[in-house]
Amino acid sequence: MAVQTVAGTADTTASATPNVDLGPAAALSCRECGERFELGPLFACASCFGPLEVAYELPTGAPEELRKRIEAGPDNIWRYAPLLPVPADVAEKPNLNPGFTKLVKADNLARELGVTGGLYVKDDSGNPTHSFKDRVVAIAVEAARAFGFTTLSCSSTGNLAGAVGAAAARAGLRSCVFIPHDLEQGKVVMAAVYGGELVGIEGNYDDVNRFCSELIGDPLGEGWGFVNVNLRPYYGEGSKTLAYEICEQLGWRLPDQIVIPIASGSQLTKIDKGFQELIKLGLVEDRPYKIFGAQAEGCSPVSAAFKAGHDVVRPQKPNTIAKSLAIGNPADGPYVLDIARRTGGAVEDVIDEQVVDAIKLLARTEGIFGETAGGVTVGVTKKLVEAGVIDPTLTTVVLNTGDGLKTLDAVSATSQATATIKPSLDAFRAAGLASA
Ligand SMILES: *Cc1c(COP(=O)(O)O)cnc(C)c1O
Repeated sequence: MAVQTVAGTADTTASATPNVDLGPAAALSCRECGERFELGPLFACASCFGPLEVAYELPTGAPEELRKRIEAGPDNIWRYAPLLPVPADVAEKPNLNPGFTKLVKADNLARELGVTGGLYVKDDSGNPTHSFKDRVVAIAVEAARAFGFTTLSCSSTGNLAGAVGAAAARAGLRSCVFIPHDLEQGKVVMAAVYGGELVGIEGNYDDVNRFCSELIGDPLGEGWGFVNVNLRPYYGEGSKTLAYEICEQLGWRLPDQIVIPIASGSQLTKIDKGFQELIKLGLVEDRPYKIFGAQAEGCSPVSAAFKAGHDVVRPQKPNTIAKSLAIGNPADGPYVLDIARRTGGAVEDVIDEQVVDAIKLLARTEGIFGETAGGVTVGVTKKLVEAGVIDPTLTTVVLNTGDGLKTLDAVSATSQATATIKPSLDAFRAAGLASA
């Protein structure tokens, strides 16, 4: 197969680790200084400490052929295996096969928001553990297998812990995951039910993450693959599949505008990387697109930096119902700022009350029950349309990254039975609910 080197320059010293087959992944490269390293469980540049990302030898040849090959692939993320750091036979291994979730044309919501150019909800609640995290974990599992890790781990705001527990169960790996102790019941149960070890840490996500970084450097963490720490470069690549799917589902076309939630910011940066790859490969026409980032006001370090015109992100102490996004010190914050500014997008936030209203708006108009992160993206979309920042005449995609059943508390106070009555027609008539 003819190959082309996409990121950085070809470097003969950075050859692949023997026996590591991660498909088109050629090396790790530093996002700051560009130095290349051979594939391995590394996450920071040895020279400048910058974060590492996967560099590829992507397929060359006619885009039409690649497009056909993708379309003939399985109805999950493995249809994009030629563009991911996974072995060619990945679909035959035991894994959860996430992805190819619905792109819902949201005409009712569009009418309500005054969007005329086409509004779509990419509904990732349809993944195996009901959040977008199954995408990133599926890729990290392949890296863990390639590097010989026997325990799968993570620091999590909730959804990741469940995704890791489930993926490890299917792959036959041990799992031990770490979460802040005060998460929603739905997330705790989902993380525990798959039979792995679940550890609640007395602290917030940033404390959990710091603890995991210490564990990696300690003999206690020997043989552990932390999907979002020492496997982070591979993990992040899973988010590119959202970009691929959205374009394919739009008929191999880039959306004009997309609204993405921000926790660490990884998902947003990798969706941009996915769009760029599709353009380079000739799979979509090279047209401008705008990327909008969404946060909850109670944890809005990136939005605050965007509005202040800063390049650096000042950490915050999170206090919001959108717990899946509650990362006060987001690793990819500065890259998110770059992308929002480069594409002509923005980063905005909404208060918790608007998150709740937006969850109910999406449910009422489209029959989609999103978690608080979905309330954040829909709420920010509404706010930016009203402010004239999002152009209502252009094609817009909004991500719903998780399932409302995991965050019932957010809406339970205001979503109850309309009436409770005796089982008689008289009682029903008295309740005033008969059809007009
Ligand atoms: C983890 C998560 C995100 C985004 O996370 P990033 O760290 O920014 O990649 C978005 N929505 C939900 C529901 C999540 O669990």
